[in-house]
Amino acid sequence: MSYCTNCGEELLSGIKYCPNCGTKVEEPKKEYQETVEVKTKLGNGEEDVLGTIAFVVMTLKTVVFALAVVGIIPLIWRIPMIIKYKKALDNKEPVDITFKVCTLIFVSVAAGILMIVDEK
Ligand SMILES: [Zn+2]
Repeated sequence: MSYCTNCGEELLSGIKYCPNCGTKVEEPKKEYQETVEVKTKLGNGEEDVLGTIAFVVMTLKTVVFALAVVGIIPLIWRIPMIIKYKKALDNKEPVDITFKVCTLIFVSVAAGILMIVDEK
């Protein structure tokens, strides 16, 4: 049901002029516009979902990238520590507790604990 834009009279569907004031009724156009608006809104809703997914993917990629970049820095001390420990293992030399604790803190908690438990 629609109403006259001029006087507010309730209008029957199909009539072209308001029976009260004679204003031309432009009902079909308005209904079409409303349909278009609804469709546009639905389209935006879908875009929002895809946009949210895109945003999440972007964020995850950035976090992974940041972690990868930050992960390069510990290589500066991790590689020498690994080499030193390998030599100690090969030569059956004892590893001091400082090295073990440093391994636990800066390289790997699991490896550090194994080193401390392994009292050789
Ligand atoms: Zn009217």
